Amino acid sequence: FNESGQRSGGLIVFQPPTEQPGIDERLHQREAELAASERRLREMAEAIDQVFWSRNADNQIDFINSAYERVWGRSRASLYEDPGSFLEAIHPEDYERVKETLHAVWSQPGRARTLQYRIIRPDGAVRWIEDRQYALPTQDERKARAVGTALDITEHMETRRGLEEANQAKTEFLNAVNHDLRTPLNAIIGFTELLSKSELDEIQQRYLALCRSGAHRMLELVETLSDLARLNTGGACLRPRPTPLHSFLDEHREHLAVQAAEKGIAFHWQVDETLPERACIDATRFSQVLLNLTQNAIKFTDEGSVQVKLRREGGHQFRLTVVDTGPGIDRADQARIFQPFERGGTPSTRRPGSGLGLSICQRLGRLMGGELTVTSKAGQGSAFHATVELPPASEPSCSCEPTEADDPAETTMAASGLEILIAEDEPVNALLMQTLLERAGARVTVVEDGQWAIATWQHLCPDLMFMDASMPRLDGIQALEAIRRIEQEEGRQRTPIVLVTAHDAETDHPRIQQADADTRVQKPLSERPLMQILQSLASG
Ligand code: ADP
Repeated sequence: FNESGQRSGGLIVFQPPTEQPGIDERLHQREAELAASERRLREMAEAIDQVFWSRNADNQIDFINSAYERVWGRSRASLYEDPGSFLEAIHPEDYERVKETLHAVWSQPGRARTLQYRIIRPDGAVRWIEDRQYALPTQDERKARAVGTALDITEHMETRRGLEEANQAKTEFLNAVNHDLRTPLNAIIGFTELLSKSELDEIQQRYLALCRSGAHRMLELVETLSDLARLNTGGACLRPRPTPLHSFLDEHREHLAVQAAEKGIAFHWQVDETLPERACIDATRFSQVLLNLTQNAIKFTDEGSVQVKLRREGGHQFRLTVVDTGPGIDRADQARIFQPFERGGTPSTRRPGSGLGLSICQRLGRLMGGELTVTSKAGQGSAFHATVELPPASEPSCSCEPTEADDPAETTMAASGLEILIAEDEPVNALLMQTLLERAGARVTVVEDGQWAIATWQHLCPDLMFMDASMPRLDGIQALEAIRRIEQEEGRQRTPIVLVTAHDAETDHPRIQQADADTRVQKPLSERPLMQILQSLASG
């Protein structure tokens, strides 16, 4: 006890009986304190933006703050009177989910449950709600209470939907551009290829070589854009195949060493000795990451060296690191350069580029099992790191697709004597294919739409047919289906049909994937893939 007889050191002090107020007075004082405390709590509850409520086990509302009236557009009094009106306001599609949660909270007191749902206000407006609630732990069932908050997240949801729609629109736009660019490129590449085989003088040859390399660069850019669009929509996946890893890496090393030597910088290559001889990888994607990071390093480094390292991290995981002694990347740029079209530095220090490589590599890195990261300081070089899975091709878990046979090609008369039907509505493409096939010795007939294709196929009985997937009136897939049906009904021999698609996104479409074609090719069609198709047809 202290001198004045107050509570001290956690002990309760007895007041002299003479100073103690009467029982009534004490009760009164206690009530006043309680009322003041409750008032303060209510004031706080009223002041917050979120709806805050408490209910009992019969779903009777004990308390709800005024935010309810603002968000739900209904009076609190109506809810106190009719607790069922809470559920009546829930959007029919979300109703069952909400009802289940209202029950479920009682089964595990203390465990918060969060859910999002829509409500319909009396004026018909739909609002999105984020609701978080839990039952208070108690021994006494009669005192069971659940409390919760509800936040109006309509604006957030609308922004999110807007972003998703914008993303979708961007992808559709990219796909359309991709398609519209590929079609003329198809013609340029194909005809320059044909032209280069005719008699030309030296200057003409040089001009033509420039045209071809320009067209190929443009095609690369179109492919990069379409890649990005597919990675953005999550439409891309890895296609692992058994790959001779050592020779795959050797080829890359040689190719990159030449590029480093051309810039007069040293090139070091260190790969783990325990790398499997054959690994189950998507070689195209792995190559894309390896080339992009290393070619960037070479591009930005004017003096010193570029080093590529591939070290085992554990299991089948390897860490790819590309280190350079280039200009380095400052902190602000490090945060931006993984975004599409973002390039670091200033206009005077920039090197040629589209700003797309790293954003593609980062998305590919994630598909391969790790985040692409950079460590760098301005003026002190950069190091890019990626994690890649390189499981041996012998692993039973390796779900590789079978390896494609190495492609022989180049037989000029591969189509000698063949009757070939081309269904293609784009006249330049049709002419190009016709020319290439006729040069290979085929007799070629061209039609411009699906209906015409079926009719011509019926009387021509071609040895092979090229069918463009998208054509007016009846598209290539519908025509293909019709032909397969007629073959069945009339017991005719199956005609080999090559489905020709415009771009990656189209090739990935389920209709195309499921179409009963013998093979698919993508535009622009050049001589080599055409000859490969003819050869595989001849051999089997
Ligand atoms: P691009 O090289 O086509 O511009 P990337 O997406 O590959 O596009 O790279 C984006 C930017 O990141 C580059 O413009 C450059 O500013 C920076 N960057 C990438 N790699 C390096 C590097 N090794 N050294 C310095 N800067 C780099």
